[in-house]
Amino acid sequence: MYMTATILDGRALAEELRTELRADVDAFMAHYQTVPQLAVVQVQGDAASDRYVRNIRKLCSTMGMQFHLTHLPPDVTQAILDNAIQQLSNDAAVHGVLIQMPLPAPLSAEQAVMHLDYRKDVDGIHPISAGLIAQGRLALVPNTPAGGMELLRRYGIPIAGKRAAVVGRSAVVGRPMAALLLHANATVTICHSHTHDLTSVLRECDIVAVAAGRPALVTGAMLRPGAVVIDFGINVQPDGSIVGDVEFTSAVAVASAITPVPGGTGPVTNVMLLRSVLTTARNQLSLQEP
Ligand code: NDP
Repeated sequence: MYMTATILDGRALAEELRTELRADVDAFMAHYQTVPQLAVVQVQGDAASDRYVRNIRKLCSTMGMQFHLTHLPPDVTQAILDNAIQQLSNDAAVHGVLIQMPLPAPLSAEQAVMHLDYRKDVDGIHPISAGLIAQGRLALVPNTPAGGMELLRRYGIPIAGKRAAVVGRSAVVGRPMAALLLHANATVTICHSHTHDLTSVLRECDIVAVAAGRPALVTGAMLRPGAVVIDFGINVQPDGSIVGDVEFTSAVAVASAITPVPGGTGPVTNVMLLRSVLTTARNQLSLQEP
């Protein structure tokens, strides 16, 4: 029994990553005489989304990056949304484009994303990005799983040869996390709502990553002693507090390392987004070099 699991501290890592990124942005600007720019397309009407966009704007300013917001009314048509994305895709001063999800019905995210230049897909949601990730050709990776992998790497957690389970198979978290673990040479099982006997799968795994959106879906009793646990869940409780998908109090007594919620994977995600903007900016500018 591990009584002293290492807490994988996302806030501390995010701070470290911000310091590194700020230096990288400065070096980029000195070399290219260009400020990296992120454009966000947001359809109004979602308070959580407003909060997220405010945080991104603030972080861009701290990192010395430019931020542009296209704020569309809640009743915007698909054609206007698609056109806004297309224009930003064609704008050479914009290096990364983020389509803020969720889009209200009846807007189609699948259709909108087809108007995004995949080379500016800083959220890793374009089918070309997803296809490249699935083929093990890591290009632009969704930020949440990229942050989970960064936590594993920075804490020196061995991945190659380990058995890993990912609970959840969404296009933005579960699937790319499974692909990234596979790329890092883990043996990966993907679990979802049809999985029989989740416990028997998890009990075999050295690394367990959970992105299901279900509070306390995974408890300590379901884990192999010494497992490393990455909890992506963000669940707002009736009292306004936030909990993950893993029951922290029981899991921390069994795991060898675990992300808390809040303060685990969440804080790392935004920095990974801005890191992707710098990557896309570099990719675009280096093409113009003689
Ligand atoms: P989705 O709702 O898109 O996907 C949830 C997945 O969990 C589905 O694949 C679903 O299976 C699976 N699932 C649901 N219930 C169970 C169950 N009882 N047993 C096993 N699998 C189950 O969610 P997201 O991937 O978008 O998000 C997951 C969580 O991560 C949420 O809490 C979200 O808030 C959080 N999140 C965190 C971020 C961060 O920065 N840390 C960023 C984005 C999301 P099936 O496919 O069969 O339906």
